[in-house]
Amino acid sequence: MSSGFFHTKIEFLKGVGPQRATLLQTELGIFTYGDLIQHYPFRYMDRTQFHQVAELTEDMQYVQIKGRILEKNLLGEGRKQRLSAIIRDASGEMELVWFKGVKFMTTQLKVNHEYIAFGKPSLFNGKFNMAHPELEETSEIKQEQTFLQPVYHTTEKLKNHRVESKTIGRMLYELLKQAPTHLSETLTPELVDRYRMVSKREAMLQIHFPKNWDTLAAARFRLKFEELFYTQLKLLRTATKRKAELAGQIFSKTPTLTEFYKNHLPFDLTNAQKRVVREIYQDVTSGKQMNRLLQGDVGSGKTIVAFVTMLLATDNGAQACIMAPTEILADQHYQGLKQYADKLGIVLGKLTGSTKKAERRVLHEQLRSGEMQMIVGTHALLEDEVQFQNLGLCIVDEQHRFGVAQRSKLWQKNPRIIPHVLVMTATPIPRTLAMTLYGDLEVSVIDELPAGRKEIITVHRYDANRLRVFGFIKEQLKLGRQAYIVYPLIEESEGLEYKDLMDGYESVTRAFPEYRVSMVHGKMKPQDKDFEMQRFLKHETHIMVATTVIEVGVNVPNASVMVIENAERFGLAQLHQLRGRVGRGADQSYCVLMTGYKLSKEGKTRIETMVRTNNGFEIADIDLKLRGPGDLMGTQQSGVLDLLIADLAKDAKILKESRAAALEIIEKDPDLSLPEHTNLLRHIRSLSHNTVNWSRIS
Ligand code: ADP
Ligand code: MG
Repeated sequence: MSSGFFHTKIEFLKGVGPQRATLLQTELGIFTYGDLIQHYPFRYMDRTQFHQVAELTEDMQYVQIKGRILEKNLLGEGRKQRLSAIIRDASGEMELVWFKGVKFMTTQLKVNHEYIAFGKPSLFNGKFNMAHPELEETSEIKQEQTFLQPVYHTTEKLKNHRVESKTIGRMLYELLKQAPTHLSETLTPELVDRYRMVSKREAMLQIHFPKNWDTLAAARFRLKFEELFYTQLKLLRTATKRKAELAGQIFSKTPTLTEFYKNHLPFDLTNAQKRVVREIYQDVTSGKQMNRLLQGDVGSGKTIVAFVTMLLATDNGAQACIMAPTEILADQHYQGLKQYADKLGIVLGKLTGSTKKAERRVLHEQLRSGEMQMIVGTHALLEDEVQFQNLGLCIVDEQHRFGVAQRSKLWQKNPRIIPHVLVMTATPIPRTLAMTLYGDLEVSVIDELPAGRKEIITVHRYDANRLRVFGFIKEQLKLGRQAYIVYPLIEESEGLEYKDLMDGYESVTRAFPEYRVSMVHGKMKPQDKDFEMQRFLKHETHIMVATTVIEVGVNVPNASVMVIENAERFGLAQLHQLRGRVGRGADQSYCVLMTGYKLSKEGKTRIETMVRTNNGFEIADIDLKLRGPGDLMGTQQSGVLDLLIADLAKDAKILKESRAAALEIIEKDPDLSLPEHTNLLRHIRSLSHNTVNWSRIS
């Protein structure tokens, strides 16, 4: 929206005024004409398609019935009061009911008038009825409204102030009367042509008031393409600029790394690991700052790749740090890296929230002097007192738990030359999401598990069969293996249907009197957690009862069973992470998902998906479809994902096309300075108007 017209405050629109303007701002974030025109309908009512009452079947979703209201009756008393009305069309009669807003509806609804009712029919006592239908009097449908009537998102509060979908429709109708001359083209004619797109003007008109389904589809494609195109154009432009601007230290010497490869590498690297190490090596010897995302499924061996990268830094006189989101994970990394570091005479430290003051002072000093070459830590690394002699590499593990602004603090710890950055994700991210979130990073994927790994066998069992599941665990323990049993919550906070960890712990100790049981949860002191984890790791205990604190990173190769209680309460990504705690050794491993008999449809899909596949990328795709991108990545980054019309779960193809188109343009004209790109530059500037500039910090 480059024109000044679209910056006009919404209160100046006919039919809005100051009071409604305030409501639109607070409820929907609509401040200007530009905001309003981008408040796209989320659904359309097809005014040409009606169902007959007599044709309704139980499996129908939403239907539209046109008929006359025969009668209306207030039934029941007090809070149980409801309004019942009978609508009749040529084929029969159906009841409409309201349990909320009863008084208001009673005054509004006019007997003997013709209405269109939209809603979900449900069968009750052998007859269909419709609860809380959207209603509209046919005589009120105006000429201006096309047959596909837009339905807009509103809120309860807006509705209470009589700002309904229809009201917003009228506002848009007013706006679109004036807007066309201001709606200039925001893509290049070449792109519009190549993808046979409708013009921006046409798309905006048709998205709100489509002539028919075809013009609507064309408008949608155009707007989705444009939205995704600009997210990619912005990312790629940033990446290109950064590459051109930011120098990086050169890590070409490899004495210790060579020594490590020769004498201490505990296994052969997989081909995927080798390829990724090569990609990283190319980056850190290029003279430019590395910004790389490393994706790999659980257990694919990201840690060793991280260590090798850290060695590249220390071999060239730079320091390396790795930041993890939790203490447990930082500990785990520390333990894992320490065995290698010790053999090589590398000084490795650990800094977390629970590091003692005195120890902390020593660490700070060693980091400043450069004596400490590698450090593993949590957020504690970000504190101002933490200064490095020459920080050359930052590795951020389990990426999505850190906010961008937070991470950027790390990069600033070398004032002379920005450190190389390697971001590792614990959970695979769907391609579409990775492109949108990290489109400015180079991506490496470890798409191969170490040889000899057996697929984890996953089964679904009902709570009623817990004894048999316990029997199975016993068999595994007898073979010398260990087991995890995971519970969703620490306390019985929300209702008793949750399995309580403490109860679980008790019943487990009772069921396994001959074995020792550890317990770990989020409310324990870090030292106590660490102590228990260590006991389990050393095989001093046999069963680990835990909450999701063990979700990420924990590595006990001898554990071969993962039992997840109330599995339906967990998200897919979480289930996959938890399952990844087993199957880390050479033994056959098992994951048992326990649930009650009652399962929601989505819960069922999650369980079925887990049972069917071990592939983290496939699971991530399904997760995206079930939950949507915002939930998937947590709130920290939802801003990046504020897409108004495109849907990352459904529009993968458009995303791919638009990214390719953006890439082509950026490669040819990185500054967008060619005359044919003038409107791209203008538009991209207006888009970044209000957003923080993260361009230097990935
Ligand atoms: P993640 O990618 O989940 O962080 P880890 O780095 O923790 O995976 O590795 C999982 C397990 O696999 C560890 O026990 C590690 O020692 C082992 N591992 C990693 N790479 C290989 C390999 N190439 N061959 C055999 N085992 C490996
Ligand atoms: Mg890991």
